[in-house]
Amino acid sequence: MATRRVVFRYPRHLIDAPVVSQIARIYNLEFNILRANITPQSEGLMVLGLEGSAEDLDKALTWVQQQGVGVQPLERDVVRNEERCTHCGACVTICPTEALHKKIATQEVCFDSDKCIACELCVPACPPRAMEVAF
Ligand code: SF4
Ligand code: SF4
Repeated sequence: MATRRVVFRYPRHLIDAPVVSQIARIYNLEFNILRANITPQSEGLMVLGLEGSAEDLDKALTWVQQQGVGVQPLERDVVRNEERCTHCGACVTICPTEALHKKIATQEVCFDSDKCIACELCVPACPPRAMEVAF
């Protein structure tokens, strides 16, 4: 058995498509939805753990792409070094899932790791390098 962590990016017209249940059934895969999110651009993002034979996993991910869903491997996590963060807000507009967001009342920038899809866009955008890639 092999396992993979992947990000599925659903275009707007496929957000409700039962892609995950179909690959589980057709390719005999176990799946675990780790995070799911609709971005402000109405793109659907889902982080999944998949388990099955390596051959079935390859076939399933090829099939998913053929349906028009983007597939990106997720091999690393992004974490925030709280001591380095200055709450400058430079990352807030860059984050596609609002995992990084500003609390209006306090102007504090919060990091919600459950919404993070590890796209790494915030890593180079953070002036004090508070956003770090964890392997
Ligand atoms: S860009 Fe970096 S320092 Fe600024 S709020 Fe975001 S994580 Fe904190
Ligand atoms: S890696 Fe950074 S920009 Fe990407 S989703 Fe996570 S917190 Fe947002």
